[in-house]
Amino acid sequence: MRDLILILGDQLAHDHPALLEADPAQDRVLLIEAPGEATHVWSHKARIALFLAAMRHHAQALRAAGWQVHHIALDDPTHATEPTLAGRLAATLRTLRPARLRVMEAGAWRLARDIEATALTEGVPLTWMHDPHFLCSRADFAKWAARKRELRMEWFYRWMRQRHHVLLDASGEPEGGQWNFDEDNRAPYPKQGPGLIPPPAHFAPDALTQDVIALVEARFPNHPGSLAHFGWPVTRAQALQALDTFIQTRLSGFGRHQDAMWEATPFGWHSLLSAALNLHLLHPREVIAAAEAAWREGRAELASTEGFIRQVLGWREFIRGVYWLDMPDLAEANHLRAEGDLPAFFWTGDTDMACLRDALRQTLDHGYAHHIQRLMVLGLYGLLAGVRPQAVSDWFLAIYVDAVEWVELPNVAGMALYANGGRFTSKPYAASGAYIQRMSNHCRGCRYDPKQRSGPDACPYTALYWDFLARHEAELAASPRTALMVRNLQRLSADEKRAIHETALQWMPRPTGETPA
Ligand code: SF4
Repeated sequence: MRDLILILGDQLAHDHPALLEADPAQDRVLLIEAPGEATHVWSHKARIALFLAAMRHHAQALRAAGWQVHHIALDDPTHATEPTLAGRLAATLRTLRPARLRVMEAGAWRLARDIEATALTEGVPLTWMHDPHFLCSRADFAKWAARKRELRMEWFYRWMRQRHHVLLDASGEPEGGQWNFDEDNRAPYPKQGPGLIPPPAHFAPDALTQDVIALVEARFPNHPGSLAHFGWPVTRAQALQALDTFIQTRLSGFGRHQDAMWEATPFGWHSLLSAALNLHLLHPREVIAAAEAAWREGRAELASTEGFIRQVLGWREFIRGVYWLDMPDLAEANHLRAEGDLPAFFWTGDTDMACLRDALRQTLDHGYAHHIQRLMVLGLYGLLAGVRPQAVSDWFLAIYVDAVEWVELPNVAGMALYANGGRFTSKPYAASGAYIQRMSNHCRGCRYDPKQRSGPDACPYTALYWDFLARHEAELAASPRTALMVRNLQRLSADEKRAIHETALQWMPRPTGETPA
């Protein structure tokens, strides 16, 4: 054998660069299902099933296309004593003795190091390949970042729009005369509710996916989450269909209500394409092109289209660049010195906080929550309550079907938890229950009152918010972006601050994960 091409579970690209250069007669493809990847963090059953089902369908497609595929199944008895990906890779290198191992850039720093160490130990030359499923290479991002005093997504996004000629007019200016339409894209749902939203694409599991679901239930019975609603795209054909459904029926409504939340409305107008993108079943270029074409053909508003493209071309690429720039330090960052453990109710949804309960229950049902639920309900609780960034990050990595470390860690530790001290955000995303009240209907049915800062009926978010300001007063007062928040705090009497602190303490988890409340 000449080359062994290791394809990781999130690299299921039909146009994988190694395959474009490979020879089916001399080279072989390797796919490894490793139990360790499901238990490295206590993964949601739907996340495990999605990766395995997509890998198995990909292996099938590769074989049909004439490739020799060496696919190590999760329960392969010859690898029973090697639960880790690195262990299974080492054993395979010893058996197959390829002249070279070729791998596309991994999505997790840990895996990249493991693969390098394994190849070195086994004496097999390793070639890393650039990942063309990102529109900004790691090297180009590093060059862009080196020219900046501060890393800000907005400047990166404008640069990417120009570089890839997206939503620009003939003179190179942004369509509609402005780079972003954020002001149009932050509306809550109307008071009476979101109304009828066309459903996202849902794919009934075929026989192969049903086998995977049975396997996951049998092998990981105690893992969190449900497989009852599993309908994620697991093939490229399904991913393309999911993209088409979104563009045809949901893009037009996406922008305006992209930050809105509503009880028992898990998907809103969101695309639900992140999992297919992150598994490389879709290329970001085709997703962006489809959205732009819809606008140019008059099938979607510019604000919606720009808001969606900003997520894919701007935020997704930016966050990946930051991850590779700042690892491994980012994984340990804890700027606010938060030491609490994750509250146990994050794994069950068993809490009286209506907003958090709704976000947690849909997460357990589907392995999905949209970006505002993740940032301004789930992440916000971690920030305000002083939960260790690593505990929150591990939970997000475990629980969402689209979670790969490159996207999850900077979003959670960096953006939601402010663990890197504002490396790419200008202030902590701290807010009280008033924000959740404005953007959702959760507070209407909640036993807590978002306006109360202390006492038994005080909203935990509100109490924790004011206490957060007090705990970090000196730092927040020194920044023009947060000084006003602190001035509001300083208007409160000492007695009120004490009462707030006592209430907030009830919601702050100890290092053991228990909360007194
Ligand atoms: Fe959430 Fe507070 Fe509103 Fe209850 S009152 S839903 S805890 S923000």
